[in-house]
Amino acid sequence: MKSLVRIVSLVLVVVGIGALLWQREVSELPNYPTSDSPETDKAAPLPEDQPDPIPWTASEVTVGRGATITKLLQDQGLEYSEALQLVEAARPIHNLERIRLGETLIIRRDQRTERVVGLVYPLDRYGEQKMVVRRGSGSEFVARREARTVRLVPKTLSGVVTESLWATREQLGLSAENIVALAGVFEWEVDFNTQVREGDTFRVVLDEVLDAESGERLRYGTIHAAEYVNAGQIYRGIRYVDSEDKVGYFNEEGMSTKKMFLKSPLKFSRISSGFSRKRFHPVLKKWRAHNGIDYAAGRGTPVRAIGRGKVVYAGTKGGYGKHVRVRHNARYSSSYSHLSRIAVKRGQMVDQGQLVGKVGSTGLATGPHLHFEFYVNGGYTNFLAQKFPRTEPIADSERDAFNARLAHILPLLVDAPPADSASPEPASP
Ligand SMILES: [Zn+2]
Repeated sequence: MKSLVRIVSLVLVVVGIGALLWQREVSELPNYPTSDSPETDKAAPLPEDQPDPIPWTASEVTVGRGATITKLLQDQGLEYSEALQLVEAARPIHNLERIRLGETLIIRRDQRTERVVGLVYPLDRYGEQKMVVRRGSGSEFVARREARTVRLVPKTLSGVVTESLWATREQLGLSAENIVALAGVFEWEVDFNTQVREGDTFRVVLDEVLDAESGERLRYGTIHAAEYVNAGQIYRGIRYVDSEDKVGYFNEEGMSTKKMFLKSPLKFSRISSGFSRKRFHPVLKKWRAHNGIDYAAGRGTPVRAIGRGKVVYAGTKGGYGKHVRVRHNARYSSSYSHLSRIAVKRGQMVDQGQLVGKVGSTGLATGPHLHFEFYVNGGYTNFLAQKFPRTEPIADSERDAFNARLAHILPLLVDAPPADSASPEPASP
């Protein structure tokens, strides 16, 4: 059964990659008749003498091992001096000397003469921004940025966690950033590295970012509302931007999802979300001289302060190895040990979530892990058993605006059918 689930998610990954390639092809390759449209010109009001548009063909070129941009352009038939001039023309928008192995460029050629007339370089993963280089009137290259016109449509997605949150993300077409953002809404309440369980469900209202012309989905964007049901416990967060442009997530009662302490010193990230939850599982150690929670994590994983406070120790300390201790207030302190690197200094104030160091295996550690301790009134306490109140209610002056927002967005979240199986989403219109 387990291996079947694994195979299914593997197939979905492959399909996902296929879809990505397809999307790139349709978005980049066949758009040559429209690239001189008034709309794209409007997006970049650069004074530029335009030669008569030459009918051109486009081909994708992948950067090979050890390739440099000038070499690559020469291979495409440009003179060395032309290649240098193209790179210089592009530099204010993107330094093409930084192209990396596996990246792709679109080369445009004159349909009749095969001469290289331009180049297209995607500036983001979703093709929303691209750099277009073409020959100007004097045949020297000119570059400009082109942006797609996008349309945002709110969309509700529902998911069930099967193998991991990671596998579910693929099924729904969510990006790693979307999942990290979802985990971010609830990072004071749920440790997404360790607490995610098979059968957990979530619903999320987020922007679907569409190409305004074709209606093609480019990606999912901002999360407006989210619900996560972890082991039967329902957590909700509604995004609210206050009159001072401060962004936060609040539950239906207008209480911030924020608390005094983060649920974990390790952030749920692109990297960690690829690990199995076993890998990150915290082990509670309770014997003399070793009280704490051990989080197995890869060397170099960022370690963050669970709460705001003052660094009272930053240095090597016996079996703890590289050790940081933060005093949050008269009652609470926390410490982080076996670090490979310390990122703070003694006496410094740190904010909640601020990097204090990187996971390592200094001191008495058999392998890379984070040894985390939490103290109440100076004595070691099991952090995982502690309950902390929510800290920030919505301000009275914001209450009416928040309620209006809530009335608008909450139905989109809670009226959506909960996901009852891990079926892929229906095809978008
Ligand atoms: Zn330990």
